[in-house]
Amino acid sequence: MLASGSKGNSMVVSSSRTRILVDAGLSCRELLKRMCVAGEDPSTLDAILVTHEHQDHVQGVAVTARKLGIPVYFTESTHRAWMRWMKPQKRMTYADWLAERQRLAAVQSSGPEDFCDDEAAEPMAGEDAEEIAGEAKQDPCRLPGVEYFSAGVNFCVGDIAVTPFTIPHDAADPVGFVFAAEGIRIGLATDLGYVPANVQQQLRNCDVLMIESNHDLEMLRDGPYPWSVKQRVMSRVGHLSNEATAAFLEKSYDGGAAYVVLAHLSESNNLPELAKVCAELALRERMSLLANKLMLAQQDQPLGSICL
Ligand SMILES: [Zn+2]
Ligand SMILES: [Zn+2]
Repeated sequence: MLASGSKGNSMVVSSSRTRILVDAGLSCRELLKRMCVAGEDPSTLDAILVTHEHQDHVQGVAVTARKLGIPVYFTESTHRAWMRWMKPQKRMTYADWLAERQRLAAVQSSGPEDFCDDEAAEPMAGEDAEEIAGEAKQDPCRLPGVEYFSAGVNFCVGDIAVTPFTIPHDAADPVGFVFAAEGIRIGLATDLGYVPANVQQQLRNCDVLMIESNHDLEMLRDGPYPWSVKQRVMSRVGHLSNEATAAFLEKSYDGGAAYVVLAHLSESNNLPELAKVCAELALRERMSLLANKLMLAQQDQPLGSICL
């Protein structure tokens, strides 16, 4: 996991032959930097998969895909919603126009990016920031390739089999994923208001389970968000609380994963220690050296690679 939380989400899933970036919710520059920190070579990525169109999952999608020349996999509804987000139809005020012009000028003057601090990193076609800004001016939604998938219909990227499944969240067509390759299954479910039966079903028999533990209910209630946002987060299409995640782990989860990763923790309405204690209590009888090792994904830095 390169980043996890409301300020940006992204992870790399790889087999020995295929590498997928799941969501690109940070700037391209930051994503590539974090990949290098995590020992992953960005030039070997085969595709980007998108769970849903919220900014914390798509911030760097277009630039990263163009820079690496790789296709992006969406559901059709998510792709449309993403395009609407990239090209809002609203009329621009003069202040917006000025801010946009300054932003583009800043991008153009920032010069080419390096993939890694590593000198050996090879430059790639189209990595010039000026070119990217120029292209974005023409069509910010232009991608090297777009592939559509549908929730409930398996597909493959290289030798990784992907099962997308519907999750309850306030986006156009949000999904979680199960990835399977070389006898290993990884389940990913973040950004969901509750854990319905179809999600419980999908998350069985996973070797790695990545599940949201977004907020502590009391911290959210007493926290800084306006009431309307609090209601949204707590709703059936919002996010899983520590308590809801614990209830899932205790009652519905089969206990078979080697690793359980708590993800998408809120920085305003949660504390890593609270999320951890809640999940530990739920898993207390099933944690061992070989099973249910608990990890917490972080916002500011990549989680160390999990290798199976
Ligand atoms: Zn999110
Ligand atoms: Zn979301």
